Amino acid sequence: MSLRFNAISNISKENDGLASKPSTKITGIFGESVFTLKTAREFLSDEAYKSLITSIRGGKKIDRNVASQIANGIRAWAESKGVTHYTHWFQPLTGTTAEKHDSFFTLKSDGTAIEEFDGAALIQQEPDASSFPSGGLRATFEARGYTAWDPSSPAFIIETGDGRTLCIPTIFVSYTGESLDYKAPLLKALESLNKSAVEVCNYFDKNVTKVTATLGWEQEYFVIDEALANARPDLVQSGRTVFGAAPAKGQQLEDHYFGSIPERVYAFMRDYEAEAYKLGIPLRTRHNEVAPAQFECAPIFEEVNIAVDHNTLLMDVMSRVAKRHKLVVLLHEKPFAGINGSGKHNNWSMATDTGVNLLAPGKTPKTNLMFLTFFVNTIKAVHDYADILRAAIASAPNDHRLGANEAPPAIISVFVGQYLAKVLADVETRVGHKFDEQDEAILKLDLHRSIPELMLDNTDRNRTSPFAFTGNKFEFRAVGSSANCAISMTVLNTIVADTLRKFKIDVDTLIEKGDKKEIAIMHVIQKYIVESKKVLFEGDGYSDDWHHEAERRGLPNLKTTPVALDAMVTDKAKHLFETNNVYSHTELEARHEIELEKYIKKVQIEARIMGDLAINHILPAAIKYQNELLTNVNGLKAAGLPEVAYASQLSILKEVSEHIQIIHTKVHGMVEARKIVNNIENTRTKAIAYESQVKSAFFDEIRYHVDKLEGLVDDETWTLPKYREMLFLR
Ligand code: ADP
Ligand code: MG
Repeated sequence: MSLRFNAISNISKENDGLASKPSTKITGIFGESVFTLKTAREFLSDEAYKSLITSIRGGKKIDRNVASQIANGIRAWAESKGVTHYTHWFQPLTGTTAEKHDSFFTLKSDGTAIEEFDGAALIQQEPDASSFPSGGLRATFEARGYTAWDPSSPAFIIETGDGRTLCIPTIFVSYTGESLDYKAPLLKALESLNKSAVEVCNYFDKNVTKVTATLGWEQEYFVIDEALANARPDLVQSGRTVFGAAPAKGQQLEDHYFGSIPERVYAFMRDYEAEAYKLGIPLRTRHNEVAPAQFECAPIFEEVNIAVDHNTLLMDVMSRVAKRHKLVVLLHEKPFAGINGSGKHNNWSMATDTGVNLLAPGKTPKTNLMFLTFFVNTIKAVHDYADILRAAIASAPNDHRLGANEAPPAIISVFVGQYLAKVLADVETRVGHKFDEQDEAILKLDLHRSIPELMLDNTDRNRTSPFAFTGNKFEFRAVGSSANCAISMTVLNTIVADTLRKFKIDVDTLIEKGDKKEIAIMHVIQKYIVESKKVLFEGDGYSDDWHHEAERRGLPNLKTTPVALDAMVTDKAKHLFETNNVYSHTELEARHEIELEKYIKKVQIEARIMGDLAINHILPAAIKYQNELLTNVNGLKAAGLPEVAYASQLSILKEVSEHIQIIHTKVHGMVEARKIVNNIENTRTKAIAYESQVKSAFFDEIRYHVDKLEGLVDDETWTLPKYREMLFLR
């Protein structure tokens, strides 16, 4: 029996005994596996505790002596929870997380066995870094990379089976100090935002000393039966199905969205949620998504660095827990053709240490001027750096979404809703007009009075916009489901930091010329609205009209990753990231190279998988069926039956033979094309060639004929699980 039928017949059996553990109250387990400040208070001396707090708040560095005290406290806590090993946990540019476990166990010089975790081991480690991507930053003969403790993200304990490992969140840098991970640049971007935003806040409130960016991600994913997934080599190897005919029922009935959660998936959700709660991940919502077998979860928002760690951690936890339920989580952006793909909306805002959300319309004209300042600066940032924001979400799997009419398009635009659009238009139409103190444009800034409930209940929504204002935050929707949010968050926070920095210079210049502060601010806001209005779009982002309109407006629409990535290494980008102390030129070049290589490898793997499946699964099944038809036709002929008796069989035979022929020729052609493309030296040229000469030139066509065969060949003979099985059986 083929894996496919084996899997199908086992599905109902697998459902037995997989119920989740009984529910516990969330508050009872929340943060149980995290070295929280409360725990720190318990396990650390006053001196060590104070030092930890200062460094968490971005203050001075912890010295070695205190670090050892902290390390001892963390070990004592971890051991009380059965931990024997620790690891520096980091986020290398592979896109997954990395850990290398060391035990607390060590031998003293006289051979006595002890458990130890000293300050040096907490602060810094040197994993063998030669196999992590560096984009040429480290020559292999000097493959040294260091992980360094990030005290702003708390240590936590990962449970795998009966094993427990203490994880220390770290950044990963090269011997010469270049960042080799996602976290280091993110922390720099957040610091840059803090600096620029505090200065602008001080126009309105001198008490603000810190601004933190906040992130609430929404994670979409598919869940399917493990045995069915294992019978699909394409899913196993590339995370997506490269073949598969559309099922009779897809998502057209729209009966899955917000529907009742299937029991087996529900048990899985409750299990991974429990793990997430222990790790301090504040999950809040769970529901079915639009496509069959697609779901979503979202936490309460947190400070960006923590939120990013929590998202990467959760992706790990979900994949691990799914196995216990004999399920597989698919985080790929487009696991199935013809139905919706998965994204990861990044809800983003900024908050002051005085407790103000800078993107929430205020209650008084003064706080509204502050809101308008940050609101318009964000729009201006997205306008000025749309190309870099686009590059931040570019990846081989996300290309399947951004180009198609199901997710926000590759054109970056901003949706603000009709009320705020009107406010912006009001300010804008007064071009050349000098604002004065009695000006109603300033008085009218009492936004809260003119736009009350609607802002709060968020009915003014546009699901098709890649970057939408949703009442008290912006929602960056074009981020891919498998992405590390650090990439988009690094860019977003840097571009807003940079825009705010320039805003301050512009306002100060006007104040020096004699404008009163509020008037100067209004003038600069007006200027920014005029300069960035072409990025505002309230209509349907999926429509063809918008594509034409965007082109007319001169907005870029780069559909494929290899060219979208160019924006990372322009002079503009280099200047931006250098000014804000986020990436050096070399780091940018290295990242650009790594992203291109990732793209090449992903397309290459998919191409190989396609070839393998076509030759080893599809053609043999088709040929078997062809033989059956032949035997049948010959038998009928021999029995002396007239041609009408086997005319249908003959016509099927003809169709099957044609598809076989084309598939074989095309697969062969694709292999040849790969050989040529593989010889290209330049990484960018090679990536572009992989896109056009391999992917575009062959993928869709091969798939078309394979999917046609799936519709013709005897179901019994077909070895790969079909869409209707993967999406609906559980
Ligand atoms: P939805 O967009 O599904 O209607 P919500 O608007 O309630 O749901 O929130 C979506 C996400 O936005 C949640 O993860 C939430 O935590 C996050 N969010 C809410 N406020 C903020 C904020 N100020 N900063 C960042 N994220 C936020
Ligand atoms: Mg949302």
